[in-house]
Amino acid sequence: MAPVLYVADILLAGRELDKVEGGAVLVEDGHIAAVGKRGDFAGFAGERVERPLIMPGLVDCHAHMALDAGIRDWPGLVADPEAEHVLRAVAALRADLRSGVTTARYMGDKYFIDVALRRALREGGIAGPRAVVATRGIKASHAHGLVGYPVDGAEERRRFVRENIRAGADFIKLFVTDAVLRPIMYCYPSREEIGAAVDEAHNVGKPVAAHVAGGPGWDVCLEAGVDSFEHGYFATREQFDGLARAGRWLDITPTPIMSDYYAERCPSGMASALAASREALVRSMREAVRSGVRYAVGSDGLHGFLAGDVQYLVDFGASQLEALRAATIRGAELCGVADVTGSIEVGKCADLVGLDAGGIAAAALKRVTLVVREGRPVPLAG
Ligand SMILES: [Zn+2]
Repeated sequence: MAPVLYVADILLAGRELDKVEGGAVLVEDGHIAAVGKRGDFAGFAGERVERPLIMPGLVDCHAHMALDAGIRDWPGLVADPEAEHVLRAVAALRADLRSGVTTARYMGDKYFIDVALRRALREGGIAGPRAVVATRGIKASHAHGLVGYPVDGAEERRRFVRENIRAGADFIKLFVTDAVLRPIMYCYPSREEIGAAVDEAHNVGKPVAAHVAGGPGWDVCLEAGVDSFEHGYFATREQFDGLARAGRWLDITPTPIMSDYYAERCPSGMASALAASREALVRSMREAVRSGVRYAVGSDGLHGFLAGDVQYLVDFGASQLEALRAATIRGAELCGVADVTGSIEVGKCADLVGLDAGGIAAAALKRVTLVVREGRPVPLAG
């Protein structure tokens, strides 16, 4: 590929997304070859692409390949045969990429389709983000976890975790609590079951992510060594502080509870439970953002809508730039890929997003007009 110069009125460059006015990025062989001011490249004779704002490609830290909450009554589709899952996933992956998501962490799918699709993505056979995959999510047999597999008993969990890792899991996903507000937030798996899964994963260097909305399950996960806490919808300030002190991650996923669009596509019982959880979520997420805990952000099943989640971060009190960092470099750190993506720095993969925006604002992520993944421009329509 011939080198291309990407030029922007505002470029968000470097590890912390520093604002560079009149910035430019030289892309060569899929990588960032140079970063500077427009004037530094006055002698460059090759192709130039200009946008008002250019920033790193987005990182969606909580998605599912074959769940598509944009389809009415989508929870029922989980029981579909494997081929249907693959077909939905191929469309979802393309939608993720076109919205500017160049890396995504997929938090559990069935039939190991995520391993096959990750390979196809690497080989360029299909369009989509760089994928970090959980394979089969693990839940207690009496508990929440739409895409989770029921696995009871510490020994059974050890075996299941080993199978996931042998099949190609990048990390392990556990379901611990419900997703919506309950009078009591139960921790469904036992302490031993959570501990056994974490122990097996860590034994071979794989991190563990847990779906944990709050309640005593939070404290069990903290003690067991869970690396990333998904959702945290109803956790307390003390719980966020504990997470911050331990240096673990919070992955904020507001859309399922906050978005009307999402609720309209759920069965009615689910929609009312989501609506009843909103107030408590807003209270908790404000505390989370204020607490100083490290956080990333995820869209959880609504493909192409990560921009909405980033806007919610701002609504919860994050600065515009903090919200954009959560959706880029922080996400890359959480996914373990910050050495190759998440920021515009020399040597990293050329994962870029161009926005039709006059300033730094999360809302502008809804106006993506350029997506470049590993140096290749992504067709945004057709
Ligand atoms: Zn999820």
